[in-house]
Amino acid sequence: MPIFPRISLKPEVCDHLKSIFLNKELLAAVGHQEAESRFQRLLMCLSHPPSYTCVRASTHLAPLEDIRQKLGEELKRQQQQQMCSSSPEDVYAQILPHPHIPDVLLLPVDGPRPVQQLSSEVVVGAQCGNAVLRGAHVFAPGIIASPKYMKAGDLVSVFSDTEGKCTRGATSFQGLKVFVGNGVAEMDRSSIFCTDEPKKGIGVRMTEPLYQSPSFDGVLPSLAFLQNLPSVVVGHVLGPRPGERVLDMCAAPGGKTCHIAALMGDQGEVVALDRIRNKIDRIGQNAQMLHLHSIKVYCFNSTQAVSSDPSQDSEGPPFPPESFDRVLLDAPCSGLGQRPNMASTWSLKEICSYQPLQRKLIQAAVRLLRKGGVLVYSTCTVTLAENEEQVAWALRTFPCLTLQPQEPHIGAEGMLGAGLSPEQLRLLQRFSPELNWDQTESAVPLPHRANTDTIGFFIAKFLKH
Ligand code: SAM
Repeated sequence: MPIFPRISLKPEVCDHLKSIFLNKELLAAVGHQEAESRFQRLLMCLSHPPSYTCVRASTHLAPLEDIRQKLGEELKRQQQQQMCSSSPEDVYAQILPHPHIPDVLLLPVDGPRPVQQLSSEVVVGAQCGNAVLRGAHVFAPGIIASPKYMKAGDLVSVFSDTEGKCTRGATSFQGLKVFVGNGVAEMDRSSIFCTDEPKKGIGVRMTEPLYQSPSFDGVLPSLAFLQNLPSVVVGHVLGPRPGERVLDMCAAPGGKTCHIAALMGDQGEVVALDRIRNKIDRIGQNAQMLHLHSIKVYCFNSTQAVSSDPSQDSEGPPFPPESFDRVLLDAPCSGLGQRPNMASTWSLKEICSYQPLQRKLIQAAVRLLRKGGVLVYSTCTVTLAENEEQVAWALRTFPCLTLQPQEPHIGAEGMLGAGLSPEQLRLLQRFSPELNWDQTESAVPLPHRANTDTIGFFIAKFLKH
């Protein structure tokens, strides 16, 4: 019995995705039945969380094994508070170093577990529901509806309002909702809804989540950074070296920026740009938390980041052409690879709006890169238009670019459908959870399971000649 529905999409978006996953080139290669089955598995797995939590360890500050030990002790403390009975050795043994990536620790996620629903229901927003599925508690601003007489200490079932249809302050909700687990209310209803200021702090402490994974709230903040596995792969594929000057064009909240600086041993310069002012602060906060000093942050539109006066040398943007040894373009995208995501309310127009912006950013990236430099382009989406088609366009438009092999290459190759050759597809890295997705844990063993049961993600690496 599937506990969750598949991801709910607007019909036009679902048809569009289907046309991508059943494109002519792919149908000719794998046949209709396999292509259809991959597409159905994609819709299913997008609404479920990956089966491992990935932690990037700050190996620029301490050896991996020390961080693993400390994390084991912290998580043991957490379990003692929740009155679980496993021994410290058990907790430590559950934290697995990734076999191919030197700064990654993996923690298995337990779920979906058999949790009995209760009569008292709290309804939370879709984003909050997704966070609960990845191990978070319910924070008060995420609560949309609660029982009329809910008091702190009450046991409640938590449901995610996946389509955003529940009215704030309601006492019940009969629309589409998905059960994400049980918890204990930490606030009365009146203090959640009847205050002038939005209430902060934990509203429901999850005691029986449907998917159990440790809460990392405040756990070893400088040593353990929660990051999806493909995002960590991006930093390694870029391969920055100490002393280089590296540009991260779309950097907030700065997870990859900080990884780049850490890989450089904090020696050299990492320039982080983002267009959204209130996201910029997060980059600086993350850098500070991870004790990184080589990062310079600017609020700037990266499509305008190339200086029109190349002779004018400047520390901040815009920069003269060929200013950087390496450029990361982790592009704004339709985000359709994010997991878990039980519903997307986006229109087809919104999903298709990213390709032109990404091209402008690629154009700026190529100009800002020195000859012999490396450009990495990545997205967390599954469409051809934002991934393989962008690579085909970039290779046509900029003859100075060639595709490069990626290290590590733990994902699948690029997807057929954009006219790229088999050699070119082999150089691309696409994390395609639908290829091996199977809910029975024993079906796909480690490390393959951790490498494939990820968010949907795409990475291309270019060299500029
Ligand atoms: N690289 C980030 C990380 O790993 O934490 C995530 C980046 S997110 C995929 C894309 C970012 O691009 C968003 O923060 C968005 O504000 C930013 N963005 C969108 N358009 C931009 C532009 N024209 N110039 C600079 N940043 C832009």
